Amino acid sequence: MLTSIATVSLSGTLEEKLQAVARAGFDGVEIFENDLLAFPGSAADVGQIIRDLGMKCTLFQPFRDFEGLPPDLRSRIFDRAEKKFEIMQQLGTDLLLVCSSVSLAASSDRERIVEDFRELGERAAGHEVRVGYEALAWGRHVWDHRQAWDIVKAVDHPAVGLILDSFHSLVRRIPMASIREIDPMKIFIVQVADAPWLNMEYLPWSRHFRNLPGQGEIPVKDFVTTLVEIGYRGPLSLEIFNDYFRSLPAWMVALDGIRSLRLTIDEASRAAGEVSDVALPPRVQCHGVVFVEFALGDNEAKPFADMLSALGFACTGRHRSKAVERWQQGGINIVLNTEPDGFAHSHYLVHGPSACAIALRIEDVDAAVARAEALSINSFEGRIGRGEMPVRAIRDVSGSLIYLVEEDQVAEMWFRDFEPISAPDHRDAGLIEVDHLAYAMRDQELLSWLLHSFAFFDVEKKAVVEIFDPLGLVHSQPIESPDRRLRVLLNGSVSDNTLTSRLHRRYWGAGLQYVSLRTSDIFDTAERLEGLGLERLKIPSNYYDDIETRFGLAPEFVSRLARWDILYDQDGEGEYLQINSRAFEKRFFFEIVERRGGYDQYGAANEVIKLTTQSRFKNDQENAL
Ligand code: MG
Repeated sequence: MLTSIATVSLSGTLEEKLQAVARAGFDGVEIFENDLLAFPGSAADVGQIIRDLGMKCTLFQPFRDFEGLPPDLRSRIFDRAEKKFEIMQQLGTDLLLVCSSVSLAASSDRERIVEDFRELGERAAGHEVRVGYEALAWGRHVWDHRQAWDIVKAVDHPAVGLILDSFHSLVRRIPMASIREIDPMKIFIVQVADAPWLNMEYLPWSRHFRNLPGQGEIPVKDFVTTLVEIGYRGPLSLEIFNDYFRSLPAWMVALDGIRSLRLTIDEASRAAGEVSDVALPPRVQCHGVVFVEFALGDNEAKPFADMLSALGFACTGRHRSKAVERWQQGGINIVLNTEPDGFAHSHYLVHGPSACAIALRIEDVDAAVARAEALSINSFEGRIGRGEMPVRAIRDVSGSLIYLVEEDQVAEMWFRDFEPISAPDHRDAGLIEVDHLAYAMRDQELLSWLLHSFAFFDVEKKAVVEIFDPLGLVHSQPIESPDRRLRVLLNGSVSDNTLTSRLHRRYWGAGLQYVSLRTSDIFDTAERLEGLGLERLKIPSNYYDDIETRFGLAPEFVSRLARWDILYDQDGEGEYLQINSRAFEKRFFFEIVERRGGYDQYGAANEVIKLTTQSRFKNDQENAL
């Protein structure tokens, strides 16, 4: 299937859009009329740029309010159509998108509409071009692809075909089976877009909330699968109207676009039992976090190591050729990198003290790297010393690294790369493993992170939770592997002032906001952490008065929670107990959690308390400066 995208999906000038589309690897592009009108050159120039970039112009759009007009307006619209045909010849495309009329002057008389299209087909054929009819979900008389197909069939002209758009068909919940009634040779192009389910009118829903296949909730994959099953092999073209996308650089949306389209083609083809031209290696199974690596400067290394000690970690290894330490507790590894050059140092120069990499336990690194390449996800191979183990990595959306390690290589990697250090007097805090990782980003970027994660990993996205940060709204998107050994929260800040957003700004980009570490006994851990001198976040007593009545908890239990500043949540039989460290350098923090009785969420109800308290602490710190 030929991949294409409409210029209306991207920000910037037409030249910038075309460059971004070509660089992302699309085969073709739809030219949206307004982009052409604002271009300081001819349609022929645009056509030449598209060909020079190695692409094809898949269609010109939109041609509106054409069918069913009274005689005086009818002749004028045909004159306009003739002009469009000339532009199309200059652009080098043979397809015009005609969307169903919304004009109050348009008649619903089917015979008249059929006659209009028959004449349009004749005129188009005279210019060696074609027209495709698309039913807009909010069309005046035609709003359903079944009506549009009925008209195209009746017109019965080789230059007149159908254009399908997943948004229009799916938001109206038109039965998927109706696609099987359509002759695939008469579908001239298929536009695809996803969207969240919203309770609103079709027009504003389409203009503002479309997103890339997989980012929303409507069944785009089933739609494309059905098309593959009936034998459609024509272009698949993204047509995304989204306010956030227009505020992001064109290259970023184009890259996400091609990733999403390849994923859709691959999955729909598989579901239809066909071999696609994309044929991606399988999604990457992840079975947990091997380590989290922090890049630090010399000034921060000591305070950070003190914080790790206070959390119950011990330094158990020193890298054989680099200024890198391994800190361990239970199954958790923290890597502390103070190298004066290399990737971690560059990350430090740009972002300051921060997590520069994570390492994940996966099954097949070669297949994973091949999948990344096919999805235009950059991979990375760092410099290694003699005898050290090469570890492959991919980059996340922010450019930080995700190392990929196979289960049977984990022990070898530590053994070959690190000189062991004994820690005889070490006192741990009973922490067992990483529970989840939380990333902070701008809300505009959240869909990009989401796409990157589910395109590469075998993960499920859970429902987005709205968190009311003291200074604005944060969208929290959980992503989980089927075995729950990889749990990630993507926290997108809507306002610029939220704590999430300030952490992110301080970082110069999205990044790891906190690492959540699991214990099997939070009271025991709390006592040990106090003994180790961890500075934890103090929780106001009002909070405890509230949860006692809210959950009907025993007063003695609530007193214990209050004694150790433990936040509490319940979900059915499950319970979630958490303690938070104070933020390191006002940037990132650690959370300690205990999950009881199969609790499967992230304590979102407590986020506001946690963030307000963290924010109050930050203000105190800033005032003290
Ligand atoms: Mg469309």
